[in-house]
Amino acid sequence: FDWWSTNNLHGYAPICLAHEDFYIRRLYHRIQDCFGRPISSAPDAWVDVVERFSNDNNKTLKRTTKSTRCLNLGSYNYLGFGSYDEYCTPLVIESLKKFSPSTCSSRVDAGTTSVHAELEECVAKYVGKPAAIVTGMGYATNSAIIPVLIGKGGLIISDSLNHTSIVNGARGSGATIRVFQHNTPAHLERVLKEQIAEGQPRTHRPWKKIIVVVEGIYSMEGEICQLPEIVSICKKYKAYVYLDEAHSIGAIGKTGRGVCELLGVDTADVDIMMGTFTKSFGSCGGYIAGSKDLIQYLKYHCPAHLYATSISTPSAQQIISAIKVILGEDGSNRGAQKLARIRENSNFFRAELQKMGFEVLGDNDSPVMPIMLYNPAKIPAFSRECLRENVAVVVVGFPATPLLLARARICISASHSREDLLKALQVISKAGDLTGIKYFPAAPKKQ
Ligand code: PMP
Repeated sequence: FDWWSTNNLHGYAPICLAHEDFYIRRLYHRIQDCFGRPISSAPDAWVDVVERFSNDNNKTLKRTTKSTRCLNLGSYNYLGFGSYDEYCTPLVIESLKKFSPSTCSSRVDAGTTSVHAELEECVAKYVGKPAAIVTGMGYATNSAIIPVLIGKGGLIISDSLNHTSIVNGARGSGATIRVFQHNTPAHLERVLKEQIAEGQPRTHRPWKKIIVVVEGIYSMEGEICQLPEIVSICKKYKAYVYLDEAHSIGAIGKTGRGVCELLGVDTADVDIMMGTFTKSFGSCGGYIAGSKDLIQYLKYHCPAHLYATSISTPSAQQIISAIKVILGEDGSNRGAQKLARIRENSNFFRAELQKMGFEVLGDNDSPVMPIMLYNPAKIPAFSRECLRENVAVVVVGFPATPLLLARARICISASHSREDLLKALQVISKAGDLTGIKYFPAAPKKQ
């Protein structure tokens, strides 16, 4: 735990990759085909993966633009809005024609269109908060807004596996940072107890402000936040709760409203609700939702609002339209079907992987499913075996995980059919046998 949090918070790991170390460059050269593969289609259930290199007489690697159609298990396209949608796409095209791809201006200058205003109202209503502010990038929502919320003299208590955008925001704020053991409310309480006495009024303690930062679904673990326990501890110690719902908003809960809806937490108890539009909504950008005063304050003080070009209008339109579909306001029940489908797909796939003997992290209902590879040497082996059978998986290793906790991170979508999932299971099972990553591998076939 300590190793992980130290690494995460002090940025040792990225420096390692950036610096010109001979062995790291050599290692990267050998596995680079497993990362950053270009695709030449929408990130749907199936995707065209560009074969970046062709083996020319086994001597030189040449670039190619040829692509192969692969089953896509890597995109965060949870509800299937990442590709053509009969309701959203025509509205986005119309918006593109009317407004153009960029607003060419920040929100406070000429970058607020009627669509931006509608989007903020729509998001606030959807997530269950009085107001919301949107930004052009999910990453920047955390990294630019956390420093506006808290500064020197404040205390941030962060889950040890929080996303790097949160880590960067926390570091940039100048506040003191403490880390609690991943998704462990009892440890959060211990950390809080070390800092303040239970029930101590906010005005009588050594910190100007305390913010506890957690995620709805942890992107590398697939785990759902223990939000009810965390909220009640924060109430007890009068700390603010900041919840990053990048992977949970739109993906879990009866109407896709995320972890609060799934676990029955009152949104009034979560002070700052953050999320991104890049996953379930098939768009780009992020939001913060909270009280009217908080959002007003952010609109006056957040550099990403004042000085960055606003989210493009067609992207904003995509989000509004996707939320309408989710809530059935497009006049169909496709939204409810998508939500039922992602849940069914995720629970089916997770259970089948476990039956096959894989070690799969995460919770039921979570569409994020890391399959543990452990040994970093298995990263390219697993990735290549899957790709050979036209299944594209995302593999993750150091520095995004500790060196010996490499994994393949499967993301399930509502747009996967049962046949897609069965094919994926067959290919993954074979790759798992070949790489020796199952608890109980299949018995060798009799000759
Ligand atoms: N928060 C979390 C928890 C994330 O996983 C991510 C990226 N996947 C972000 C924020 C950044 O979001 P975006 O990719 O939309 O910039």
